[in-house]
Amino acid sequence: ARWTEESGWGESSVLPYGPLQLSPAAAVLHYGQEIFEGLKAFRHADGSVWTFRPEANAERMQRSARRLALPELPVEDFLASLRAVTAADEPWVPKATSEESLYLRPFMFASEEFLGVRASQTVDYYVIASPAGPYFPRGVQPLVVWITDEYARAGAGGTGAAKCGGNYASSLLGKREAAENGADEVLFLDSETHASIDELSGMNVFALTRDGRLLTPALTGSILEGVTRASILRLAADRGLEVVEQRLVMSEVLDQLGTGEITEMFACGTAAVINPIGSFAARGGSWTVGDGGSGEVTLALRQELTDIQYGRVPDRHGWLTRLV
Ligand code: PMP
Repeated sequence: ARWTEESGWGESSVLPYGPLQLSPAAAVLHYGQEIFEGLKAFRHADGSVWTFRPEANAERMQRSARRLALPELPVEDFLASLRAVTAADEPWVPKATSEESLYLRPFMFASEEFLGVRASQTVDYYVIASPAGPYFPRGVQPLVVWITDEYARAGAGGTGAAKCGGNYASSLLGKREAAENGADEVLFLDSETHASIDELSGMNVFALTRDGRLLTPALTGSILEGVTRASILRLAADRGLEVVEQRLVMSEVLDQLGTGEITEMFACGTAAVINPIGSFAARGGSWTVGDGGSGEVTLALRQELTDIQYGRVPDRHGWLTRLV
């Protein structure tokens, strides 16, 4: 669908996958005025296809839109776009037994042909769909996480809480630094004090203490408000864990790994669901989380969340929306 300053949102349609036509002067190519979302469509055993908490993604996309001076897409239109694309691609939704899904990528960008710096008066919204293989083809693998002291992902007053393309462009060198140091993922500290945990390049972070508290960084404005994060806070509270959203100072977390005060850590997001963190590395050291394997509570939360998503247990929080 296309939005113009003059007429608002226009008609939407389902098109075959293929290249887009853009003016070389399209604003997005110069000023990065772009936002996106990521969701999955899951097939259930009876053949029906569902998605997980899409209203949360729709609302997050509206918040991202406000931050990037893009128009808000109504929640109903967002849901209708997921339904239309998934219905058209229904044969591509993997079998219920495969632990695979159809990945849905809604995105919105400034398409006006205009080189001046101002909010674009023409904006396009699309959804692409692609079957997503199992994230862990050989079983869940704990991550090695590199703590970068060189790069920050987001600064105060910036776009860290928005899901905009530029945030990912700025995280690429951190990811490369992690890979060059033999790690799987990069952890960004906050840009102000360079001391507390923000998040990974595409996942939120959690720590479990020996006395049953589940800690995660508070939403300070520089991290993305993950839908998986919010769901885990709920499932953990249901299990009787005390959930705490607070500032997590990296050096204190590393000390608490040493003393055994923190027993498990994991990262979470739509793609990997929940991914155990096995160890941290940084210039000047490395630290093992627990025994370096996958923690018991981490795996139980992962199982519960995927069981809900694939319809294997009752959806007691009403998190699923039927698409097809
Ligand atoms: N942080 C960042 C930077 C991300 O890109 C993502 C993935 N969308 C997340 C956290 C996790 O968010 P969600 O659980 O909504 O996928």
